[in-house]
Amino acid sequence: MISALENIYISPLELCNLNCRYCYTKKTKNILSNSQILSFVRRYNQQLATRNCQLKSIIFCGGEVFTLKNFPSLINKLNSMGIFTSIITNGTIDRLKNIKDPRNCQLIVSFDGPQNIHDANRGPGNFTRSKKFVKHALKLNFPVEIFYLITKDSYPYKDSFQVYNLPKTYLTDRLGSLTSKQIIDIRQNYPCYPPKNFGCSMLSLQSDGKFYGCCESVKPIASISDPIKKVVKRFLDLTSKNLLCSDPDYFCGLKNL
Ligand code: SF4
Repeated sequence: MISALENIYISPLELCNLNCRYCYTKKTKNILSNSQILSFVRRYNQQLATRNCQLKSIIFCGGEVFTLKNFPSLINKLNSMGIFTSIITNGTIDRLKNIKDPRNCQLIVSFDGPQNIHDANRGPGNFTRSKKFVKHALKLNFPVEIFYLITKDSYPYKDSFQVYNLPKTYLTDRLGSLTSKQIIDIRQNYPCYPPKNFGCSMLSLQSDGKFYGCCESVKPIASISDPIKKVVKRFLDLTSKNLLCSDPDYFCGLKNL
């Protein structure tokens, strides 16, 4: 339970520079500012200190966080506070030179398979753009991982697809192009997101300023304006009841496969 408090998830926005065929975000216009996020992190860390633990890592997702010009300065501030950051990105906007401590900032770059499949989903030129981003990130010593979206088109390439031989985490299409057998194959035999034993119990702050018990949940448990003690208590109450994967409101649809 401590690790579920020490490693959290923040989605500052749902807006994106792309409009992928398989995107399932609603692309609302909500944006959490850097100061809102930093204020929350400071208050949250004070609360964790009362439990003899501290915030160790934040996974950022969107939307596309690099559409926000000042996003690197948020990362720099968090890294300087000793917090490791992971950024899920489509890799088409390169603001990497503005991040001061690459070794404490993991990049998880989305690919949808070979170039023709990727560009059919994400728009012409985006495969080359994202690959160039990965090359630049490696040159700057960022830890990089590939986020491999498995759809009916990319499934045949699940073993052979590579980008600079980097490790891959698999994400199965939520819009229904895969068969149940294909989803089970991926969930049982490949490293997946959310991770099988971790991602479904993660405090998630979303761009609407609300907290959820899981990055896939649709039912808020608290708001950013609530006292942090209450936020933590609600999250712990929820996870201690082990509701996250059995209650339809908190169920990501994948964990029990
Ligand atoms: S890059 Fe991600 S958030 Fe942006 S449109 Fe594509 S799937 Fe959606």
